[in-house]
Amino acid sequence: MIKLFFASSGSEANESAVKLARKHGALHLGGAYEIITLTNSFHGRTLAMMSATGKAQWDTLYEPKVPGFIHVPINDFDACFAAISHNTCAIMLELVQGEGGVNAVDPAYLQAIRKACDVYGIMLIVDEIQTGLGRTGKLFAFEHYDVQPDVLTLGKGIGGGYPLSAMLTKSKFDLFEQGDQGGTYAGAPLGMAIGLAVVKEIVRLGLAEQAAIVGSYAISKLQELARVYPLSNIRGKGLLLAFDVPESSAQSLVAQSMEEGLLINAPKPSTIRLMPPLIATKSDVDEMIRLLQQALARIGLAAS
Ligand SMILES: *Cc1c(COP(=O)(O)O)cnc(C)c1O
Repeated sequence: MIKLFFASSGSEANESAVKLARKHGALHLGGAYEIITLTNSFHGRTLAMMSATGKAQWDTLYEPKVPGFIHVPINDFDACFAAISHNTCAIMLELVQGEGGVNAVDPAYLQAIRKACDVYGIMLIVDEIQTGLGRTGKLFAFEHYDVQPDVLTLGKGIGGGYPLSAMLTKSKFDLFEQGDQGGTYAGAPLGMAIGLAVVKEIVRLGLAEQAAIVGSYAISKLQELARVYPLSNIRGKGLLLAFDVPESSAQSLVAQSMEEGLLINAPKPSTIRLMPPLIATKSDVDEMIRLLQQALARIGLAAS
């Protein structure tokens, strides 16, 4: 069985997951409280989630940091394994790092982490605030992998624009008792009605399946564009896509695209991320490519 805690923002859902992990550590792992997360990760903007986040620019912002978070590089199981100690209560990661520039975890890496969590009784928290609810072409990104998380967090798309988030746990980790966690807007009726309607529509319209189809179409169109313009490392799943551009030109491409009427963003100086709405169609992709090509030509990004 799955138990849920509802909140208003993704950061709060992750905070709840961390509290649950610390409770697990206190009850079952002799007081273990450390959580292993990834460099380049993004988990939110509360003080604890800024500490969980592996963003170099935040290392000295709003010090002192909340202790208990260790960062290891993505897809390096040896580094993760070396970081596990008697203090570890959880491993927390995004399956596709969104703010980090659209970097997916490898299946073998995730499977090894799952195994280590099982062997040592460590909780596996998967942050699907960006990847959840159809974004990657499946309802949940973990469905791309043969791995199930113990605890899952959702946000962003779950409210369809309304502030709503959720932490889900398997009954094995259903450890909160009355009063352990809460909030003024936790499970408030308006949010619940909106979330229910949004999830029903995503399922009814088959938006996850559509994101998979439209996403592969977008990748093929970006690859065509890459024959003429210097786009490289085209990557992503479903409608969470990215590519690299040379010499830190991402910000000027974002600005020029805005002029052309296309909203994109640059999570890194040389990386462009594309997150079209889940209702986007192939003809929307054609329009996106047309505007992108115009922007690339206008900023004079030379043919490769
Ligand atoms: C956006 C995001 C968050 C934070 O969500 P907020 O609603 O801004 O607090 C956490 N994790 C991931 C992966 C996100 O993309």
